[in-house]
Amino acid sequence: MTNHDRKPIHIPGSIQPHGLLLALSTELEILQVSNNTQEYLGKEPKDLLGQSLSYLLDARTVEAIEQYLVKKIGSVNAFKVSIMTLNGERYFDSIAHRTEEVLILELEPTSSSELSFLSFQALAGEAIANMQSTSNLTEFLHLVAVNTREITAFDRVMVYQFDHQGAGSVIAEAKREDLSPYLGLHYPATDIPQQARELYTRCLLRFIPDLNAQPVKLVPIENPTTQQPLDLSLSVLRSFDSCCVEYHQNIGVTALLVISLVQEQQLWGLIACHHETPKHIPYEMRKICEFLGRIVSLELAHKVSQSELDYKVKLKSLQSEFIESISQADNFIDALIKPEIRLLDLVGASGAAVCLNDEITLVGATPDINRVQALIEWADTQVNDNLFVTDSLPKLYPEAVTFKDTTSGLLLLRISQVLRYYILWFRPEVIQTVHWAGNPNESIQVEADGNVTLCPRKSFENWQETVQLTSLPWKQCEIDSALALKNAIVGIVLSKADELAKINLELERSNRELASFAYAASHDLKEPLRGIYNFSTVLLEDYAQVLDDDGIECLQTVVSLSVRMETLINALLRLSQLGQTQLRQQQINLNELLNQVIDVFHASRQDSELIDIRIPRPLPTVECDPVLVNEVFSNLISNAFKYNDKTESWVEIGYQGEQGSRGAGEAGENKTINSQLPITFYVRDNGIGIPEHHLETIFRLFKRLHSQEKYGGGAGAGLAIVKKIVELHGGHIWVESSIGFGSTFYFTLK
Ligand code: ADP
Repeated sequence: MTNHDRKPIHIPGSIQPHGLLLALSTELEILQVSNNTQEYLGKEPKDLLGQSLSYLLDARTVEAIEQYLVKKIGSVNAFKVSIMTLNGERYFDSIAHRTEEVLILELEPTSSSELSFLSFQALAGEAIANMQSTSNLTEFLHLVAVNTREITAFDRVMVYQFDHQGAGSVIAEAKREDLSPYLGLHYPATDIPQQARELYTRCLLRFIPDLNAQPVKLVPIENPTTQQPLDLSLSVLRSFDSCCVEYHQNIGVTALLVISLVQEQQLWGLIACHHETPKHIPYEMRKICEFLGRIVSLELAHKVSQSELDYKVKLKSLQSEFIESISQADNFIDALIKPEIRLLDLVGASGAAVCLNDEITLVGATPDINRVQALIEWADTQVNDNLFVTDSLPKLYPEAVTFKDTTSGLLLLRISQVLRYYILWFRPEVIQTVHWAGNPNESIQVEADGNVTLCPRKSFENWQETVQLTSLPWKQCEIDSALALKNAIVGIVLSKADELAKINLELERSNRELASFAYAASHDLKEPLRGIYNFSTVLLEDYAQVLDDDGIECLQTVVSLSVRMETLINALLRLSQLGQTQLRQQQINLNELLNQVIDVFHASRQDSELIDIRIPRPLPTVECDPVLVNEVFSNLISNAFKYNDKTESWVEIGYQGEQGSRGAGEAGENKTINSQLPITFYVRDNGIGIPEHHLETIFRLFKRLHSQEKYGGGAGAGLAIVKKIVELHGGHIWVESSIGFGSTFYFTLK
């Protein structure tokens, strides 16, 4: 509470001197008068007090006034009256209103006896037509200032708007050219005390033609029946507060006209008219201004919502264009951040970060990646309904103080927690360069006893106040826009996943079909092939004598080709069988498995004593299908000796990794490997080597690098089968080689 808030301004006990006031009882007896009746009516107060109103006014006027007694309290009405004085007949604008106890009649002298409806219509009508010509709020308010100035001819007309804390700012202005502008200036809430604000919402126009004029006291000062001071809340002549005088004198104002702009019973703003010198405007003219104020208030609601609507429409169209383009894009993430400006405009941000699986892309003005990452970690704990919004991040997350320039405001969307999909938008600190009209704290003084005194400010120089660590607030329509994007992305991600799942199913189905086709085909081919072989053998054995040498040779070729073909078909059969095989995984000690392979290998060769198979350290125990892994080692070892031209050929089998950590323990006993990483096994030889450009092709089915008769022949299917088995285990196979020195086949089983 300031001293100003404590001092009631609606019961000053005096009026301004440009008119006179009569307080009447409900029987129209004069109870109080202003102490200037002599000046206007040629009668002293004492001559009037206790008199009936008919002593002053004619019967018709008195009758009209009586009507007001039945009217609702608070309503004000005006009419013209003429009063006979010593100097002849005088005309007055008579303004009547009722309080609980009394009827207050205020008389302002006027030159004309008639209300001029036409001039009222001309002035108001034109102003209204002008103001309605625009739908833009700023332009509209400018026209309000210009038209009000035209009607009132005041030096300066300003439109103030109050913020939610009651501070005002000048948002439109029309002024005499030589005056310095006040447009954009802010005024602290204390400039218009709470009491005055309340009065502004009840009494829509306040007029002070001369701030230097001496107020005129009421006689008697209190209502003689109630012993209470007269409530002048709705009085047009109510005198003004000394504080108000001093305040306006500081800015060189002598005459003042203030029109209230009210929205839903709240004071939205004011149209304030200032004049350097005393300035009187007739009641009639003031009524036009009040009327205009009401129209502006009405239009305002419409214009404010129109400008909000315009922005919403803009966001909506941006949103739908955006969503359409990301849903059609092959790479929706790219579409999200290109063009960058679209992502920012969507919510009116100046920076953004798109986080997909921890991969962060920054757009516009943002903190660095590490800070964004840390911010996501923190904000994730604050998210409510997948959304976190603040316009003062550094107050909640102190680390943000260091990057308040980019991120005083944060809007975070969590699109998927599992996939770690987030979009963050940033707004900078509004170093709200507020231009205060003078230091707002200067208008308040705290006295020694702790009481706060309101003193008019002496200085009206601009100074800037920084609203620290705060960004512009996020509007609901901007948040809605972000949420719409989220829903679209979720839809797109889900439908993409759906598509992928369908493709996978289709792929599995066609793979199965292919495998069963290959199996059936190779199986069925074997029978006619056996026939060809058998009949050719019969021909060779039983009809050799009727064939010449060429014929015999041809038949021998048919036999050997059908043998080869059987080998190929068997390979194909094996491969297609593998395609349908279910792995029978178990914990297998690879040393034992390898021993079996070597035993079989020895048994199948005559020169087994010459075979040098090296195993530098015991192999681990792993989970695998032993029959299939046996096939892998058999194939690779057999190839190692087959494609080898050295007199001392050898093969080495092992695995990569630290001794002990992945292999057998100190005592040589086998260990199970628990490592998450797949183990890379190798089979190395000192054979002929493989040319660089065949390192991949050798794994293809029926691919051989040599002619049939060289290196013991073969179907060219061994490595294709090995590859299939490795892949069935979830592993990979590859080869490194050096021509003339040897090859190393690597594989994993995971
Ligand atoms: P095959 O041995 O029956 O011809 P593979 O599929 O086992 O069929 O091998 C394909 C080809 O890869 C072989 O023909 C050979 O040219 C080459 N190859 C395989 N293993 C080795 C090796 N250890 N050293 C050199 N070449 C090899």
